[in-house]
Amino acid sequence: MKKTLIVFLTLILSACSLPAASSPEPSPTPVPPTATSLPTSAPTATLPSATLPPTSQPDDLFAANFINLPAPVCNGPTPEQTEGPYYTPNTPERNILFEPGMAGERLIVVGYVLDPNCQPIPNAWLDFWQADANGVYDNAGYTLRGHQFSDSQGRYFLETVLPGEYPGRTEHIHVKLQALNGVIHTSQLYFPNVAANTTDGIFDPALIVTLEEREGYYVAYFNFVIAP
Ligand code: FE
Repeated sequence: MKKTLIVFLTLILSACSLPAASSPEPSPTPVPPTATSLPTSAPTATLPSATLPPTSQPDDLFAANFINLPAPVCNGPTPEQTEGPYYTPNTPERNILFEPGMAGERLIVVGYVLDPNCQPIPNAWLDFWQADANGVYDNAGYTLRGHQFSDSQGRYFLETVLPGEYPGRTEHIHVKLQALNGVIHTSQLYFPNVAANTTDGIFDPALIVTLEEREGYYVAYFNFVIAP
């Protein structure tokens, strides 16, 4: 009798638990997320401008600095000059040599690279190097050294500082230029109204930039004319 009761109770318990095991609760049908179900903090396609990476595209640099280049004027081929003792090859590609905290007056140098027929030369290589405001070159690294390529309109843009004088030399910026598959031209740029221009044996007045003084910085204009 006792054994029969145990079997009976076991059967009842089994019967009670079976439905739950064999008929589970139907799981909710998955619902694809909709636009309205996305969290409000989800990232959007448009990043805030503050998070956009800086760009060195010439178009942006000209516009950002309110520079409209006058139409190209050709005054004959740019005179060649010695490269001097301080050229370093393999410079970084950059338009901006100026660094925050750098001594000296900020200077932007702009212009066209032109062929002898006064036509713009796009994609011309320009390599600039210069002394700092104290007349000292960085001959170990690449401070105040950098190359760039003229844009589709033949324009170049350089942001730097006014170079200082050093013994025997007036203020100047060195440059090498080369049209695509052309020869390398080497020259220098000078500044107007510098007393040391008259005592510098290398100085050439044909290489003086047109200097525009702005609030806290200068813009220098110079067009290079080279054989392609
Ligand atoms: Fe020099």
